Amino acid sequence: MIGTSVQKEATLSCGHQGLVKVSGNSKAREDKIRWAKEHQLCGDCYKIELAEAREKANATAAAEAKENGLPQLIGSEKQIAWATTIRKNKLEEIDAMMLTPTGDHLRAIEKIKSQTSAKVWIDNREISAYYLLQGVALRFETLDTRIKETVEAYPEHEERIKKNAEYLYSLAPGF
Ligand SMILES: [Zn+2]
Repeated sequence: MIGTSVQKEATLSCGHQGLVKVSGNSKAREDKIRWAKEHQLCGDCYKIELAEAREKANATAAAEAKENGLPQLIGSEKQIAWATTIRKNKLEEIDAMMLTPTGDHLRAIEKIKSQTSAKVWIDNREISAYYLLQGVALRFETLDTRIKETVEAYPEHEERIKKNAEYLYSLAPGF
């Protein structure tokens, strides 16, 4: 039958026993087992490998932050390590998006860079660089002013303008 897969016990690349998902004919199953013996890690070893990769990424981010003159983050040791990596990735995304930022965008980038709370960075880890920048830049202008001006231009869309503006202003809390 096509699509059925079963779990087969095998010795994995880390030397531990583990389950390998196999399917297809016997040749396909043998190939998968052989692949697993060479490449697949058991659950525990996979977790260790992930943790090591994360630690390495955090160390790289910390070294780069120092080099780039970014402020030291504040929080627990764990929060700082994690947030430093988040900050590095977000700033790189912003950099790639805005090659020559000007005006409010430039101001927003400075404001984002000056954020030293590890918690704020962690809380905002899911937001795209675009919305982070947008959210911060928009707040240079008060919500009321922005709504008033936009409604004056498009009075027929008042409800939608209000909702949209409130949404944009709620982005990137803490920044
Ligand atoms: Zn293992």
